[in-house]
Amino acid sequence: MFERIALIGLGLIGSSLSHVMRRKGLARHIAGHAKTARTRDKAVELGLVDSIHATAAEAVAGADLVILCVPVGVNAAVAAEIGPHIAPGAIVTDVGSVKAAVIRDVAPHLAKGVHFVPGHPVAGTEHSGPESGFAELFENRWCILTPPAGTDPRAVARLTAFWEACGSHVEIMDAAHHDMVLAITSHIPHLIAYNIVATAEHLETVTQSEVIKFAAGGFRDFTRIAASDPVMWRDVFLNNKEAVLEMLARFTEDLTALQRAIRYGDDKALVDLFTRTREIRRGIIEAGQETPAPDFGRLGGKAPDGAEPL
Ligand code: NAP
Repeated sequence: MFERIALIGLGLIGSSLSHVMRRKGLARHIAGHAKTARTRDKAVELGLVDSIHATAAEAVAGADLVILCVPVGVNAAVAAEIGPHIAPGAIVTDVGSVKAAVIRDVAPHLAKGVHFVPGHPVAGTEHSGPESGFAELFENRWCILTPPAGTDPRAVARLTAFWEACGSHVEIMDAAHHDMVLAITSHIPHLIAYNIVATAEHLETVTQSEVIKFAAGGFRDFTRIAASDPVMWRDVFLNNKEAVLEMLARFTEDLTALQRAIRYGDDKALVDLFTRTREIRRGIIEAGQETPAPDFGRLGGKAPDGAEPL
């Protein structure tokens, strides 16, 4: 599908892309770059790349597709470095969990004639690094593309075909809409998980008693999400500030309503809400985005398909 694909960043997403590209034969040559020599050596050892490069600028030379798989906050510096080295006509995309900030940071560094089509595969796990990737990660998951106005439709079509070959369903969306939707479906759930685990830890400290030891299933599910990569999530919150704060305000209002229902014994309000939310989970299962098995279908700690969407 492409002659030479450059992967900048070889962590969970970069390595998973390499696996699926190899399996489906999507690139004649995969050129890779990551920040540290440790990851670059590991990528060679795992056969993730055909060539490894000490700089991102070297990796992108001659590539017809460049995929940025680095934390969102790093994109500006990487784009400034690679901008002058990208071949005319090449497609540049990314996999960042936030889209408006990536467009702001990357677009100004790309020459005319280079096609920038930002993307976000809505697929992931709480693991990171070059060893954590697997070819099935994107299978039956959404990949959202947010091409800015005026993007060449042929470039969008080529990238759509690429993600479909990786097993994903592709949706085209405006970047601001993406950031709002993902704020409530992905970013706030992570914030809640980080917060609830921190609250339990604090309670343990102030009461000098065991709390986390007795973690029930609900709490354990939060600890899985709260084990996600700290740098990645720092960058997500700092780069989707407005949408996250807006959704947090709505969430807080709704939480206050729930608090009130509990205080005044409004049993109907509680049952109505819990019934609606149960229906929503049913819908997600029917759409094939989740398994109905108990405990999220984890078998010995792993989901059957190995993937848990973020
Ligand atoms: P990861 O496993 O932590 O990998 C990040 C990679 O970026 C590493 O190879 C790292 O290199 C490299 N990197 C960091 N700073 C760099 C720099 N200045 N120059 C070159 N390479 C640099 O992260 P990930 O989970 O793959 O996430 C990558 C992107 O995908 C993020 O933007 C994230 O928002 C997005 N995303 C993640 C998920 C998820 O579930 N994890 C899902 C969808 C989208 P070293 O290893 O050498 O440090």
